[in-house]
Amino acid sequence: MKGLTVVSGALKQLVVISGKGGTGKTSVVAALAQLAGKAGPVVTADCDVEAANLALVMGGGDDSSEPFMAGQRAHVDPDRCSGCGLCVEHCRFEALSSDPIPTVDPLACEGCGVCALVCADDAVSFTENQAGLSLQRSTPVGPLVHAQLGVAQESSGKLVASVRQRAKEVAEQEGIGLVIVDGPPGIGCPVHATLTGCDLVLVVTEPTASGEHDLGRVLELVAHFRMRAVVLINKYDLAPEVAERIAALAERSSAPVVGRIPFDRAIARALAEGELPFHLPAFAAPLAEAWQAIQESLRG
Ligand code: SF4
Ligand code: SF4
Repeated sequence: MKGLTVVSGALKQLVVISGKGGTGKTSVVAALAQLAGKAGPVVTADCDVEAANLALVMGGGDDSSEPFMAGQRAHVDPDRCSGCGLCVEHCRFEALSSDPIPTVDPLACEGCGVCALVCADDAVSFTENQAGLSLQRSTPVGPLVHAQLGVAQESSGKLVASVRQRAKEVAEQEGIGLVIVDGPPGIGCPVHATLTGCDLVLVVTEPTASGEHDLGRVLELVAHFRMRAVVLINKYDLAPEVAERIAALAERSSAPVVGRIPFDRAIARALAEGELPFHLPAFAAPLAEAWQAIQESLRG
């Protein structure tokens, strides 16, 4: 198996999440991919499908793009429709407007099928809904699987599951031993879909009251799924006391802190410009340390 110093043999999957957005999670994923990439190719996956931006940091260009289909949308056949208005009356999502033949607003239609049930003229049919795009690109460190959720689409859990599955398949097809996943924020369905089947969870957090609170919720979720987790504290020196409380919380939850990245204006500037500032020791050293600890946890 190519490109892996962490283990030999079985594929390992590391998922990086945070309780909320804006903790620097995506930059951490990209930085870990660069470090892992020194040993050979690594598959990365962007499961933050509602705000996908890992591709911007990873570089390269998309090699493939396929429609992602989920759910269905109603259509009214004007040649069959008598204009009775029953479907308009029963649509809870106000997706039908009548003039007098109803037309369907595809952004509002949930594909629930009620309109077809009430239609005595068999005038309603359904087509598959394109909920987004599944994409794959080649980056300097290996394949990246990502996606774009369409406007007003709510199938993000399914799209996340599809990105996860595709990343695993690409790794297996190409004999790559490590997948690093950029997970969505929060603790809802898309996060559950991201965590499925992973070997280790890295939680990226910040020393704020909300960061501490969100970390507690994320660690509860990880414990619920009986998964192993480690914690990385970003900008730890902005509030050292809160950072220490976070470290204590992580310790109590059997999720050791593997790294502390300081706040540094030069780091922030570089990241804002889409660069990973490995030339800055304040960025490079804690991430290298964290990567060592993560590899040990993945071996364990
Ligand atoms: S499928 Fe449901 S949401 Fe869509 S138009 Fe029919 S009743 Fe409304
Ligand atoms: S229920 Fe059927 S026949 Fe009546 S308006 Fe709707 S589509 Fe037309």
